[in-house]
Amino acid sequence: MDKNKKYSPSTLCVQAGWTPKKGEPRVLPIYQSTTFKYDTSEQMARLFDLEDSGYFYTRLQNPTNDAVAAKIAALEGGVAAMLTSSGQAANFYAIFNICQAGDHFVTSSNIYGGTYNLFGVTLKKLGVECTFVDPNAPEEEIAKAFRPNTKALFGETISNPGCEVLDIEKFARIAHSHGVPLIVDNTFPTPINCRPFEWGADIVTHSTTKYMDGHAVSVGGAVVDSGNFPWDEYAEKFPGLTTPDESYHGLTYTKAFGRNAFITKATAQLMRDLGSIQSPQNAFLLNLGLETLHLRVPRHCENALAVAKWLEANPKVKWVNYSGLPSNKYYELSKKYLPNGSCGVIAFGLEGTREDAIKFMDRLKFIAIVTHVADARTCVLHPASHTHRQLTDEQLREAGVAPDLIRLSVGIEDVADIIADIEQALA
Ligand SMILES: *Cc1c(COP(=O)(O)O)cnc(C)c1O
Repeated sequence: MDKNKKYSPSTLCVQAGWTPKKGEPRVLPIYQSTTFKYDTSEQMARLFDLEDSGYFYTRLQNPTNDAVAAKIAALEGGVAAMLTSSGQAANFYAIFNICQAGDHFVTSSNIYGGTYNLFGVTLKKLGVECTFVDPNAPEEEIAKAFRPNTKALFGETISNPGCEVLDIEKFARIAHSHGVPLIVDNTFPTPINCRPFEWGADIVTHSTTKYMDGHAVSVGGAVVDSGNFPWDEYAEKFPGLTTPDESYHGLTYTKAFGRNAFITKATAQLMRDLGSIQSPQNAFLLNLGLETLHLRVPRHCENALAVAKWLEANPKVKWVNYSGLPSNKYYELSKKYLPNGSCGVIAFGLEGTREDAIKFMDRLKFIAIVTHVADARTCVLHPASHTHRQLTDEQLREAGVAPDLIRLSVGIEDVADIIADIEQALA
């Protein structure tokens, strides 16, 4: 591809990342190798000092993974990206790359249950505290959560499973007025439907397990950097990026790597020490998913909107949350940030008891009950009984999860068949 040309997302899905040279494989190869060969000891030593870039051990970097990360960076409009073993690892790395024991960050409370637990419980054990805020609260209310040791603001573009839409510009304003980056988990819309950097976000994370892979075959994650956050302007807040790293002979990331500082540090320190790599085999499968992302995402959205409209008109359905519905409280935000559609995930509740919801799910025929969302096959889940069962009712409400919430992930089958399956189960 021509480095100076701006390609559309559809072209990037197919072409970005792997550009073979003369005689090389047309298709991205799987570099199934832990190690890489050099001719002299000196060449290898320079890699260990970060003085040359190159591969030496797959725990740090692998060419297959790097090609797929480069495709995701291009799709998001970022300067650099890294793949991780899961979405959980991606969010952990994004926070832990700038927060250490004694630090604090602020996060929307409308986030994925696993992230909620990571932030509220596990990071706390490492000495990193967070404050959960209602993302729909006024700016001055959210600003009250910031402290002198606050290092980041976090939110999800579309929350899982609540399907609430984040006002990214509002969040970016709050973060930047406090001299910290905005980190956005963009898993549900994917860069096909929303590119948070265009609205002021600084770091984007993904669970690539969802639409990016799209076929439910490999767990993975990604961290992408816009390269825009001015770390050196707030040098005292981010010493890990702006002061010498003794483990690399006193190299300073912002000085040595400029706009690539964030991802280079996350690779050189966190991947080196924690090792949450994606296997090259999974990265290869992820790349196959990405090659059709621009075709699948619009179909998921088209099907989901039709199902959401059908559910809304059904008297057995108490409520439907899908931001593409004109009646939805997030419709205006959705039109602004997600003009081409939001995603395939719908949250809804049935008239009747919790048991009725469970009965409905058990009667579905090809729509399966699975702990997954956002793949080609339509599936359903009751978060209060499944993914979020460790949360109290109060935490459930904070996370935007009503006890009767059914999460329906609409696939890319024929929508008439999807609706027919729901109809017979409701009957
Ligand atoms: C699934 C998900 C995660 C966690 O990703 P894994 O790949 O399952 O570790 C994080 N954020 C969001 C929004 C998710 O949907």
